[in-house]
Amino acid sequence: MSTIFTKIIEGEIPCHKVAETDEHIAFLDINPIAEGHTLVVPKKEIDYFFDLPDDLMQSTMAVSRHIAKAIDKGLNPLRTGIIVQGLEVPHAHVHLIPLYKENQVMALGHNVSVSEEQMVELKEKITAEVSL
Ligand code: 5GP
Repeated sequence: MSTIFTKIIEGEIPCHKVAETDEHIAFLDINPIAEGHTLVVPKKEIDYFFDLPDDLMQSTMAVSRHIAKAIDKGLNPLRTGIIVQGLEVPHAHVHLIPLYKENQVMALGHNVSVSEEQMVELKEKITAEVSL
């Protein structure tokens, strides 16, 4: 059965898409721990991040860097942090977390509330800085 992220990639489930290439998609996390929390997902359905073939791992990190820089420019956090967890969705992905405060906790489960209107605005601000 397809993962929820494959359903997003195939357009069966909506998302706030930030960027897409032949091999990757980036979209806002539906349950963010910070405003602009973005997931970078290789389209190929591989569960464990560290099972990605070398070239796909490298391109995933390159796309993640590009999106992190777009988050930095579009949302102006202090920095953007990165988490790879994969306990909920068995489809490799990178979490990019804008860090707005020195003491901000970067742990999944510490969610913030973001309205649909804000999600659209956040997505647009990041997308405007993407040139993949
Ligand atoms: P992990 O697998 O790394 O533990 O976490 C999966 C992440 O995917 C969670 O942060 C969760 O909020 C996010 N997520 C799960 N289902 C969906 C979905 O349908 N759409 C979006 N945009 N994010 C999702």
